[in-house]
Amino acid sequence: MDFSEKIRFLRKKNKWSQEELGRKVGVSNRAVSKWEKGDARPATDTLLTIATVFGVTLDFFLKKDEEPEKKRAVEPGMESLTELYRTGVGPSSSHTMGPAKAAELFRAAFPDATRYKAVLMGSLAKTGKGHRTDWCIQKEMAPRPCEIVFDVRTRELYHPNTLQLFAYQGARRVGFWEVYSVGGGSIAVKGHPVYTPPRIYPHNSFAEIARFCRERRLRLWQYVETFEGQEIWDFLEKVWAQMLATMEEGLEAQGVLPGSLGVQRKAKILFNQRHIDENAETRENRLVCAYAFALSEQNAAGGTVVTAPTCGSCGILPAVLRYVRDKRDFSDRDVLRALATAGLMGNLIKTRASISGAECGCQAEVGSACAMAAAGLGELYDMSLDQIEYAAEVALEHHLGLTCDPIRGLVQIPCIERNAVAAMRAINAVNLANFLTDSRKISFDVVVQTMYETGRDLSRRYRETGEGGLAKLYS
Ligand code: SF4
Repeated sequence: MDFSEKIRFLRKKNKWSQEELGRKVGVSNRAVSKWEKGDARPATDTLLTIATVFGVTLDFFLKKDEEPEKKRAVEPGMESLTELYRTGVGPSSSHTMGPAKAAELFRAAFPDATRYKAVLMGSLAKTGKGHRTDWCIQKEMAPRPCEIVFDVRTRELYHPNTLQLFAYQGARRVGFWEVYSVGGGSIAVKGHPVYTPPRIYPHNSFAEIARFCRERRLRLWQYVETFEGQEIWDFLEKVWAQMLATMEEGLEAQGVLPGSLGVQRKAKILFNQRHIDENAETRENRLVCAYAFALSEQNAAGGTVVTAPTCGSCGILPAVLRYVRDKRDFSDRDVLRALATAGLMGNLIKTRASISGAECGCQAEVGSACAMAAAGLGELYDMSLDQIEYAAEVALEHHLGLTCDPIRGLVQIPCIERNAVAAMRAINAVNLANFLTDSRKISFDVVVQTMYETGRDLSRRYRETGEGGLAKLYS
């Protein structure tokens, strides 16, 4: 549909006459008639009013109509791992960290405003309350007041996590941004590419990276070092220290998590309660799960976590690395290399597909984290490039189609338990890769693309809206 068809379609759908629409927008019925005939187009300001009147975004009118995007337009290269592993406050990287960062940048861009307004749309509107999106934005805007509007009506969005920020001096509007919280705490500001981090890696597919590494006989952690520089190790050391600190806090904490579900913390119980006749397998299961619960419970409680690649999936990678480090006596240097390799796989998924539950369901969060953990373990075990690729591929493949349906918008059920299950699955994927890599048929790049297409096909109900699955049926 072109513009004239879109406006006619929306007017008829609302059963308004041209005169009625003209009155709502503040123009004559002749002007509306000209738009519908394609004889004229409204000015941008008027277009914004039209979009508001119909409850759609500006993009609905500006974007050419097309099939739902299945293949992501991938720009060359990838951002630094410092954009993937982010330390911040939970419970959600896309619903708390991203909006908080947007609010911080917006306030710095319009410091003289006397008040602000934030309109939360899409998944941010549907589950923002449970995720505390309103609270974290108001905290960043303080001491200036910030009105929060949960716009659950607007459906035609460029990104499912859309946030509109307004700055005012008295009644006069002095600033406006449309922001997309794209997952893992990253944001994109429409029309402001300056807030987009540089792409320091030249490649963005595993096939390209593998070719580069084979030609130069590099391991994946060395590939990371080549483009990030030596300073990446200081960064990853801090990341690992924070992951362990969060885990320790979670293993100590007791009681009930915040929110209306009354979820009991379980990490400490799992950690301390040995089975009366515990064999090695049971012990492994119990400890890995205890570690994953500890991090995820801290996240649910609004504690400080590292995104790996998101807050909701922050328990998986640290849980398996800590368990295997202790079991096999690996050094912290080995763990940092594993974090580099795991981060590289997460970065590939983030760049070529998505790590956002609102965009592609839980397969994009917990599935990605499981792939990262499997790759990290593969690095720890000194596996070959092919084996690491296969381990990550298996881990992601068997999360395909996983929905995001957090009950009451809280990152608790199914999220916490799911981290523990995925951590165990990462260990299984590495075991399979150890034996079966030579017979594999599916590449990591193919499974990443499959995850993205599957995510785009998922009903909106299963993409962090709290409208389907457990969120709908739990009472
Ligand atoms: S279900 Fe998965 S994607 Fe959704 S909030 Fe929970 S962890 Fe995140």
